[in-house]
Amino acid sequence: MSELLDKFKAYLAETTNLGHASTLLYWDLETSMPKEGFKGHSDALAYLSTESFKRSTSTEMGEFLDKLSAPAEFDALDSDWKYIVKQMKKNYDENKRVPADFYHDFIVAQNEAGVAWQDAKAKKDFSIFAPHLEKMIDFTKKMMGYMRPHMEVYDALLDSYEEGMDSATYDRVFNELKEGLLPLLNKILAAKPYDESKFKKEYDIPAQKAVEKFLLEYIGFSFDKGCTGETEHPFTLNFNSKDVRVSNHFRTDNAVDPMFSAIHEGGHAIFEQNVAERLDDTVAGSCNYLGLHESQSRFYENVLGRNINFWKPIYAKLQEIDPDFKDITIDEFYRYINSVKNSLIRTQADEVTYCLHVIVRYEIEQEIFRNNVPVSELPALWNKKMEEYLHITPPTDAEGILQDMHWSDGSFGYFPTYLLGTIYDGMFLEAVEKDLGSIDTVLAEGRIKDITKWLNEHIHQYGSSRKPKEVIQAVCGREVSAQPILKYFTEKYTKIYNL
Ligand code: ZN
Repeated sequence: MSELLDKFKAYLAETTNLGHASTLLYWDLETSMPKEGFKGHSDALAYLSTESFKRSTSTEMGEFLDKLSAPAEFDALDSDWKYIVKQMKKNYDENKRVPADFYHDFIVAQNEAGVAWQDAKAKKDFSIFAPHLEKMIDFTKKMMGYMRPHMEVYDALLDSYEEGMDSATYDRVFNELKEGLLPLLNKILAAKPYDESKFKKEYDIPAQKAVEKFLLEYIGFSFDKGCTGETEHPFTLNFNSKDVRVSNHFRTDNAVDPMFSAIHEGGHAIFEQNVAERLDDTVAGSCNYLGLHESQSRFYENVLGRNINFWKPIYAKLQEIDPDFKDITIDEFYRYINSVKNSLIRTQADEVTYCLHVIVRYEIEQEIFRNNVPVSELPALWNKKMEEYLHITPPTDAEGILQDMHWSDGSFGYFPTYLLGTIYDGMFLEAVEKDLGSIDTVLAEGRIKDITKWLNEHIHQYGSSRKPKEVIQAVCGREVSAQPILKYFTEKYTKIYNL
């Protein structure tokens, strides 16, 4: 190994320590910090992130990357380090092109827009948020212009969340899905809805926590390399593959949502816990592709977790851990967790309508960045699309265009990755079944860990070192397609709703 690479690794290790400390502070801030500890934590976090950013954009870093990119050094690197150097050089060059003053103004605008969004949502008044949204759109365009001047803005945004996925691919698979899904949804909505009254009761919280632990272990989350916490919104946080944490939110009026949050975050965490150790603390050591990441959480949550065979080997155990489920049969439970409704809020949507919630956002983002539709027209556009796809109109903008925070911080192009993950899942399901046989059988026999092992081997171990298109090609042997997930939806819900 070259002396230069050794020095570079030592430099990266120091930066990693700063990141490690920031991650721990953030976890503590979210899960256990007392209210008045906020200032101390946020000051320390701001300091550490600034130092870390300085190191990642330093002249020293630039010199390392230039030298390692020169053919003599680069050709001698192994394939992991070739990826790492190339990716870091790309990120470095993009960050360097952003003027410091502009970056500062962007962060200020982002913070102000966040505050305005919260206020607008609470007061159900879009006009409070509108000027900030306009500013964030403008700033986002400029930011992409600096970072990726050779790319069309919306393509650049999509690519920044799911590298290599362009709008031509998104358009093709989303349209494919929409065409197939709209008639299916209409049939489901015309069928008899499921009566959920039996599930409306007070649930015990300690029992829910015990269920979370049981489910995480069952699907293959390692408690030697992870732990759990409680937060308002569930999330997954990773230090490296040896320490990956998940959080959950427990309520007395609903014990089912936390189960699926546990399985969802568990899916994200299992990915991170199984990235090859040699990639730890590098840019390849964690999955940076949001669509691919989401495909894993949704595979566990929906494809596996909402299959009745997932529950067959463990339902009696679930009833034993949480006696609130003693009077609910597995068939009733299965029916409840697959109830399809045309509701207003994306985060509460079932797996079928969820796709359309994302398509609404994707189409509006295109209107914003491609057709320059004025911000004042967006709420009406939102409502029109909700009516067209889900046959429902938000009573106020708080349940409509103001429901998500993503656009307030400039995360345009982020939403579509949620749906891309679902589309990948249809393809992964086919690939898993080709190797392991019907997942119904594998799950019914309590062998879910065989599926986890398959995912570890084929997807997780590579971290970010394989880009999403390469993963799909390697695992499925073909281009991304929405047909497999459409087939899954059609077969599953035709049976459930007797269509
Ligand atoms: Zn997720």
